[in-house]
Amino acid sequence: MKMENFFKRVQNEFKKAAEKNNIAVDLVAKLLTFDRSLEFNVSFQKKNGGVQTVKGYRAQHNNILGPYKGGLRYHPNVSMDEVKALSFLMTFKNAVIGVPFGGGKGGIAIDPKKLNESELEELTRSFTRQLAPYIGPEKDVPAPDVNTNPKIMAWIVDEYAKIIGKQTPAVVTGKPIELGGSEGRLEATGYGGVYALLAILKLLGKKPEDFTVAVQGFGNVGQYAAKSLRQNGFKVVAISDSKGGIYVPEGISDIRALAKYKAEKGNLFSKRMMRGGRKIASEEVLTLPVDIIIPAALEDAINEGNARDIRAKIILEMANSPTTREADKILFEKDVMIVPDILANAGGVTVSYFEWYQNMRDERWTKEEVFSKLKEKMERAAEAVYQIHREKKVVLREAAYMLALERIQAKWLKK
Ligand code: NAD
Repeated sequence: MKMENFFKRVQNEFKKAAEKNNIAVDLVAKLLTFDRSLEFNVSFQKKNGGVQTVKGYRAQHNNILGPYKGGLRYHPNVSMDEVKALSFLMTFKNAVIGVPFGGGKGGIAIDPKKLNESELEELTRSFTRQLAPYIGPEKDVPAPDVNTNPKIMAWIVDEYAKIIGKQTPAVVTGKPIELGGSEGRLEATGYGGVYALLAILKLLGKKPEDFTVAVQGFGNVGQYAAKSLRQNGFKVVAISDSKGGIYVPEGISDIRALAKYKAEKGNLFSKRMMRGGRKIASEEVLTLPVDIIIPAALEDAINEGNARDIRAKIILEMANSPTTREADKILFEKDVMIVPDILANAGGVTVSYFEWYQNMRDERWTKEEVFSKLKEKMERAAEAVYQIHREKKVVLREAAYMLALERIQAKWLKK
């Protein structure tokens, strides 16, 4: 991720919202710093007998609203700057959605695809031993992120239990279901974004049936978003992934079958699904004549190069930071409504919170319970953001930051 741009963008939104909301100067100053930036040397045994040492990081931005919360990513580009920027973003995402967590993020600078399973386990356990004094259900609760998964979370839980002498599933979220993971985590981000979109359309007095949608990205988020869109009555007319996509003006009839096709063939070019339509290039999906576009793949997907060509009137930002600042300005002039990432993709952290909550109380919710609670949380957050947008005459992105800051300040003043 181009961290410098991303961090500047997020900080800029934060500063604008802080000024408009009369946020106390000492709180603004605090939020511009980090409670803790931890850097570790993580050593692990290699299969060939040697020992490799890599850098591990955890940034704890602040815990005004509750324990630090945010993922752990394993990627060669992970750096202190990256985890700091992402932990900053988590503070605001958690506040917008209304979960009692602060902002955290961490990771290891390594390409996990070059490791075998036992090396990956060794690496994770070694990292956990370093992290152990700083994490815990009431302190800091990591989760999966880029290249990390439920299996890795299970190793963390196991190693943490050895260190503190007690099984503590709530130390991380995103665990396998049999080890205390929550139902519905897989679908959470995709479904959550659609719940937020539905809430906003309702406030606008519009019905899903009146909208055509194009989705960029058909991974975890894109697939469940597309499925939910169709179930809720939207017409999904285009989907793309990194290899290209399909555009079917009459609507893609079976999202589940398309997902199956992709899983088997590795692309989206199913002749059956494409009937009456055509192949498109990956990026073309964003400039088709549709009502709503959903970037659910990469940061900076909507930029100065393509923003003028966008024909949709609504953008639902499911990826993190998919719209550059230059594109934001162009789209504002074109009167495009952008449902910002910190609201649109907060479904994942919401169900992470549900998982932590169930672990803390030794409860087990059904999938239906999880989805209904997720829906309620996404709707409430979307309505609150929309209300600020109307009252203060600011775009939804600014409104989301204003809502987050209001909530952080309210808690800060009580301390
Ligand atoms: P994923 O790896 O499962 O899927 C990514 C998809 O994007 C793949 O289908 C890939 O083919 C596609 N893609 C890559 N380059 C593309 C391109 N140039 N054009 C079109 N498609 C392209 O990832 P994911 O978990 O679905 O996450 C997608 C985005 O959502 C990321 O920005 C991620 O940070 C964000 N996000 C994910 C979650 C979550 O819970 N998974 C939560 C919050 C935010």
